[in-house]
Amino acid sequence: MNEGEPEKVVDFDVIVGLIGRGIKLSRTPSMHIAEARAQGGRCDYRILDMDDPERSGVSLEAMLHEVEAAGYAGVNVTYPYKIEVMPFLDELSANATAVGAVNTVIFRDGRRTGHNTDLWGFAESFRRGLSDVNRDHALLIGAGGAGVAVAHGLADCCKVGRLSIHDMDPARARALAEHVSERWGTEVNAVSDLAALVATDRPDGVVNATPMGMEKLPGSAFPTNLLHPEMWIADVVYFPLETELLKAARAVGCRTLSGAGMAVFQAVRAFELFAGRPADSDRMRATFDAFDQ
Ligand code: NAD
Repeated sequence: MNEGEPEKVVDFDVIVGLIGRGIKLSRTPSMHIAEARAQGGRCDYRILDMDDPERSGVSLEAMLHEVEAAGYAGVNVTYPYKIEVMPFLDELSANATAVGAVNTVIFRDGRRTGHNTDLWGFAESFRRGLSDVNRDHALLIGAGGAGVAVAHGLADCCKVGRLSIHDMDPARARALAEHVSERWGTEVNAVSDLAALVATDRPDGVVNATPMGMEKLPGSAFPTNLLHPEMWIADVVYFPLETELLKAARAVGCRTLSGAGMAVFQAVRAFELFAGRPADSDRMRATFDAFDQ
């Protein structure tokens, strides 16, 4: 603001943040800031990286207390805190309860409410990008933080007929399979041998929710020699957008869905929770895409 110029009155003005580790390159702050500005409001979105030396020794509980006392409307929570944050909250949304993890916390009237916008983020991305695909049988690879949200999204919103779950940690796959089938009544099985599954009971589609395919973890958790042109393939990894799996799948002729949609739509829903007003998902997507230009 120039000196003497009256301060611009904005429709809404929120301070929010992202608590996690190694989050300096996150695109989420830019999406929120640009969307608020486009709506005539202001969103001061701060990166609260717990890896910063200034936060060494600061606990998650202390961090939450600090931002709540400072008047934040809420925070996004990411790796490795999505489950750890839950005991510090007063209530959970239905999605956070179903998934058993929280990625958005809202502070209101002295109460903390935990939400999970990853579930809807994946489901909405799927609805927009793969709504017409066959979904009698889907395979999910990865039963960690992203995988749990995707599994519930596939069962609840995407209405897959059957779900197979594979994880290099078989106990994780089994626990998630049990949880999803109990919650939604969907037939869910943990599977260990992907080649055998494809040979005997080929899934219509595959979702990669492992970190494999990221720049620092090249490769594919789903062996690309098992791809078939009739399969659809979705990835949640979005650094890079074109993972080895998606590239191979496109080459074979599969329908594909990148991790960008989930990243954008989780932010769309979080914006609505923080600002209490709808977000324009196309505009938030444009901000997300601008990083790649
Ligand atoms: P995580 O560490 O919590 O879970 C990963 C899971 O994958 C673990 O259970 C692990 O055992 C399993 N796994 C790893 N390699 C495997 C392999 N080769 N075969 C089988 N299982 C394997 O990680 P996370 O938080 O779930 O993140 C996973 C990826 O999802 C990351 O790349 C992250 O950036 C991405 N992500 C994307 C979004 C989005 O909005 N698009 C949201 C959250 C996470």
